[in-house]
Amino acid sequence: MYMGKKIIILGGGFGGLCISNILRQNLDITHEIIVIDKKDYFMMGLTNLWILDGQRSLEDSKIPLSNLESKGIKYIQDIVTVIDVKSKIIKTLRHLDLFKYDFLVIALGAELATDVIPGFDEYSGFNLYDAEHIPCLRKKILSLEKGRIAIAIMGIPYKCPPAPYEATFIIDKLLRNANRREKIEIDIYFPSKVPLPVAGQQPNLDLISLLKKQNINLFPNFSLKKVNSHYLQFDNKQKKEYSILIGIPFHFLPPVLSTSGLLEKEHNWIAVDKFTLKTKFNNVFAIGDVTEIKINDVVSVPKAGIFAEGQARSVASQIINKINIITKEEEEEKENNIIKFDGKGFCFMDTGNGKAGFIDTNFYNSDGPITILKEPSIQYYKQKINFESQRIKEWL
Ligand SMILES: Cc1cc2nc3c(=O)[nH]c(=O)nc-3n(C[C@H](O)[C@H](O)[C@H](O)COP(=O)(O)OP(=O)(O)OC[C@H]3O[C@@H](n4cnc5c(N)ncnc54)[C@H](O)[C@@H]3O)c2cc1C
Repeated sequence: MYMGKKIIILGGGFGGLCISNILRQNLDITHEIIVIDKKDYFMMGLTNLWILDGQRSLEDSKIPLSNLESKGIKYIQDIVTVIDVKSKIIKTLRHLDLFKYDFLVIALGAELATDVIPGFDEYSGFNLYDAEHIPCLRKKILSLEKGRIAIAIMGIPYKCPPAPYEATFIIDKLLRNANRREKIEIDIYFPSKVPLPVAGQQPNLDLISLLKKQNINLFPNFSLKKVNSHYLQFDNKQKKEYSILIGIPFHFLPPVLSTSGLLEKEHNWIAVDKFTLKTKFNNVFAIGDVTEIKINDVVSVPKAGIFAEGQARSVASQIINKINIITKEEEEEKENNIIKFDGKGFCFMDTGNGKAGFIDTNFYNSDGPITILKEPSIQYYKQKINFESQRIKEWL
C-alpha cells in the first residue's frame, strides 16, 4: 500500500508525537509514518504535579497512543531492542519482523532510576517523576502530622529543572490548607551551588526569594549518598532527618542506544548538530531528552518537552523537504528554507497558589544563554493548563 518512504519514530513522547503529527500533515499517504513506544499511553510530566495537588487523577492524565491510528500514523506498542543504523534496521521484543526505514528519528527520552541510591527504594522513597507514585505520595503528605518532608535531586541533568521546586510550593500549599505547615518542615537538597544551574544569577535569586517566602529550606551542594530508616546521608558527610522522602531520580541514556553505534566516546547522551539534530549517520536524527547540546562547560540545553518540540519541528522540515524534492534547484532552495532549532524555550513554574511564574529562555543567544523568570500570575497558571490541553488535542 505504501509506495513512498518509511519514517520510523522511536518514542511516542513529547518529541515523537510532535514530529509524527507534523510529518503526517505534510506528507502524502504513500509515505508511511510509524511510531514505536513501549507504553500504550502518553502523559505529560507536568501532570504529576497536578495529581500531587489533587486537581487531576492519574487515569484522567493518560491518553491512549492508539489514537494516532485515526490520524494515519501507525503505532506499534513494543520495546525497541536493537537500533542498527548501519543496516537501517530496528528490532523490537515481540515483533519477529525487522523494521527497515528510510528516515529514523530517535526520541526515546531519558531512562530514570532511584535504586542507584542505597536504601532509597528499601525505605519507600517516592519518585516524583514516576506518576504511579504520586497518588500514594499525596495521601502520605496529607496524613503526616509533624516532621520533615525531604526532596532530594539525585543528579544533574534531570528533566524540567524547575519541577522539584514546583513540588515544594504545592506541598507547602497542601500543608497550609490542612493547618499543619507550622509542624512540618520542607527541605530541598540539590547537588549544585544554585537551584537552577542552567539559569543565570537573577532567576536563581528570584526563585530563592520565592522559596524563602514560603519557609522552604534550601540545601545547596547536598548530593544524596545513602538513605537510612530515619535519616539521609550526603556526600558532604552531613546527616539529615526525614519523615517523607521524595527523590528526583538519576537520568541516563536508554540502554538500547549504548550499543547502537550512535553514542560517541566520552559522551553520556547522543551528540547531534545543534541546529539540525542530525547524527553522524545519514537520515538518522535524535531529538529531545536523549540528546545533549552543550552550550558551554557548565550549561547544556535542558531536558524539557518544549525543546524536544522545537527540535521535532526542525527535523520534520528537513524530512519533508527531502521527500518532497522534485528538482535539483528545488533541493537547493528548500535546503535554505529548513527550520533550524533556535535554542529557545519557555515554561510555567507552578508556585502553588493558583499562580505560575513564566520562565523564558534563549540558549543560543550570541552573548550567552539568557533565562528570565517573570513574576507569578493567575494568567500564567491558565497558560500552563492550556499548554497541556492544546498539545493533547493537536497530537492525539
Ligand atoms: C514532573 C515533570 C514536569 C515537567 N514539566 C515540564 C514542563 O512544564 N514543560 C516542559 O517542556 N517539559 C516538562 N517536563 C519534561 C518533559 O516531560 C520531557 O523533557 C519530555 O517528555 C522529553 O520528551 P522526549 O520526546 O525526549 O522523551 P519522552 O517524552 O520521555 O518520550 C520518550 C518515549 O520513549 C519511550 N521509550 C523509551 N525507551 C524505549 C524502548 N526501548 N522501546 C520503546 N519505547 C521506549 C518511552 O516509553 C517514552 O514514551 C516535565 C517532566 C516531569 C517529570
